[in-house]
Amino acid sequence: MTGRERYLNALQGKPVDRICVGSPTSLATYEEMRRLGIEWPDAHYEAAPIALLAERSYTDHGYDSIMPYFSIILGAAALGAEIEWGEDPWEFDKGTGKIISGPRMPAVSPPNPWTTPDEIVIPDDFLERRETKAVIDSIRILRERHPDAAVIGKVMGPWTLSYHMFGPQEFLINVILDPDYVHACLDRLMPASIEFANAQIEAGADAICLADHSTGDLVRAETYRDYLMPVHQKITPQINSPVILHCCGKTLDRMQYIKDAGFEAFHFATENDPHEAKAVVGDFNLVGNVSNFVTLLSGRPEDVAFEVEDIVSAGIDIIAPECAVPPQVTNENLMAVPAAARGEFQGDPSITDPRNMAHEYRVEVAKQSAAASSGPALSL
Ligand SMILES: [Zn+2]
Repeated sequence: MTGRERYLNALQGKPVDRICVGSPTSLATYEEMRRLGIEWPDAHYEAAPIALLAERSYTDHGYDSIMPYFSIILGAAALGAEIEWGEDPWEFDKGTGKIISGPRMPAVSPPNPWTTPDEIVIPDDFLERRETKAVIDSIRILRERHPDAAVIGKVMGPWTLSYHMFGPQEFLINVILDPDYVHACLDRLMPASIEFANAQIEAGADAICLADHSTGDLVRAETYRDYLMPVHQKITPQINSPVILHCCGKTLDRMQYIKDAGFEAFHFATENDPHEAKAVVGDFNLVGNVSNFVTLLSGRPEDVAFEVEDIVSAGIDIIAPECAVPPQVTNENLMAVPAAARGEFQGDPSITDPRNMAHEYRVEVAKQSAAASSGPALSL
C-alpha cells in the first residue's frame, strides 16, 4: 500500500496495511533548511523551495504525507493583510555549532486590515496572489514528483481569517456584543477558504486541512456549536476532498460537534488525553497528538517513541505531531514518530527510563488548574 492509499483509507475508515503516519500541519525544520540551503520567508511564498522543504517528510523522515503550507497567514496575506515575515538571522551555539534560532514564523502586522464585516472583499485575483499561488503551484510540483505520497493541502477557516483580518480581541468581543457581526464575518469569509481549498485539490492535493482556531482557552464549546459548526457544515460539502479540521488547545468538550460538522477527521492537540479523546468520539478519525513543545522539542527520541506508543495504544487513527512543529525540532526526534508508530524504533539501549512527557504535562496542568479553580471562566 502506498502512503497515499494508506492515508486516504485511514481518512475514510477503510483498512490499512499498517498504521498511517502523516501530519496535516508543518514539519519544516531549521535542520532541513540548512541542509537544503533554503530558508523562510522565501519558502513561504515561492513554490520551488516550499516543495523541496515539504517533501522531506516523505522522502527522508518516514511519513506517509507531504504538507506544503508552513505558516498560518498566507490566506490573510492574499486578502491584503500586511505581514511581518520574520526575517531573523541564524544564530548558532558557539561551542557545538547547533542551531539556536533562525527565521521566525510570520505574523500579521497591525493595524487590523478591516473593522467591520461590510469591508470584507475577496479579491478577484485571490488565487493568483503571490502567497496563494505559491502553495497551489507547490502542490502541482509535489503531485508530479511524488505520485505515491499523500499530498495534504491547507487553508485557514473563516474564524482564523477573522482573527487575522479584524484582530482576535476585536473579533472575539463581538461574540458577546454583536453576534450578527460575527455571523457576517464567517459567512463572508467562508468562500475564501472554499476557493483556496478547491484550487489546491485541483492542483493535486488528496485532502485538505482546514485550520480554524476556536480553541478551548478562548472559545467555549457552545460558542463553537452556535457560531462555527453551522458554517463548517456549509463548508465541508463544498470542498471536493476529505477535510481534516485542525484546532489547537483543549477540545474534548467539542469533539462531538466537530464530528457533526462533517469533517473526515480531527487533528487534535496534546492538551487532550488520546485515550479520553477516543472515549468521547470513538467512531471519528483522530489525527495527532505528539507533543511539540513538551516532547519533540525537549525530549529524547526514546521519550518521543514512548509517547507515540501510548497514542497508538489509544487507537488514534493517524499518528502526527499535534500542530506545526517548532522549527528547532531535530530530525532525530521527528523520525522517531513514524519509527515508533510502526514498532521499528531502535533507541539507545542504555536509556531505560523513557518518559511520557505529554502525560506528565497533562497531569501537572490538571493539578494547577484544580488549585487555582473556581474563578469565573474567561472563555467566550
Ligand atoms: Zn495548532
